[in-house]
Amino acid sequence: MINVAIDGPAGAGKSTISRAAAGELGFIYVDTGALYRAVGVYALRNNIDTKDARNVGKSLEKITVELKFADGVQHVFLNGEDVSEEIRLPEASMAASNVSAIPAVREFLFDLQRDIAAKNNCIMDGRDIGTVVLPHAQIKIFLTASPEIRAMRRFKELEQKGAKDTYEEVLSDLKIRDYNDSHREIAPLKPAADSVTVDTSGLSLEQSVNKIVSVIKEKM
Ligand code: C5P
Repeated sequence: MINVAIDGPAGAGKSTISRAAAGELGFIYVDTGALYRAVGVYALRNNIDTKDARNVGKSLEKITVELKFADGVQHVFLNGEDVSEEIRLPEASMAASNVSAIPAVREFLFDLQRDIAAKNNCIMDGRDIGTVVLPHAQIKIFLTASPEIRAMRRFKELEQKGAKDTYEEVLSDLKIRDYNDSHREIAPLKPAADSVTVDTSGLSLEQSVNKIVSVIKEKM
């Protein structure tokens, strides 16, 4: 199987670019952030403090998280319920960032990610795919862009969905998540030693997709 690991900070365009590149290559696209978001949503729904490692850890006994693919589109199921929409709410983003720093949560989601990669040609995106989950991925890309550009992209996406968050709020949330993701003890966000870094700050979506597809084809 061919495995492509794409890691990078929030809002770098990982999911949009990975989805399009996977479509061109005929690979499945796996968005691992959705898994952490699903665990975060469970905690939010059940009034569990998302930073409380003990209680979040205990809650894992009551959770099943599954990914299913319909026409190449990923759906995430929490205890059998499709929560693909709910996990995109801004409060789910921060909850995901918090629970993802808890080692038991990362361990809980590890096999699921590995199994999918073992069975499929895939592009998998996240924070630690090239460094921890798939250290033997044939192709590793670190996708990034400036915080302001990433926040503007997220802001427009949320605005389209009718969310009321201001650009300043989105930027500040994103900086907090960047800090959390790159400073946590376990599986911090950092480029794998053997990754290619692609900065999408000055690139359109189409240019970014072309760049990623060409990096992948070159390595294949
Ligand atoms: O990529 P996305 O923004 O959906 O991820 C939500 C949160 O989940 C991130 O802020 C990060 O803390 C966490 N995450 C992670 N490891 C991954 C994917 C996401 O820690 N592989």
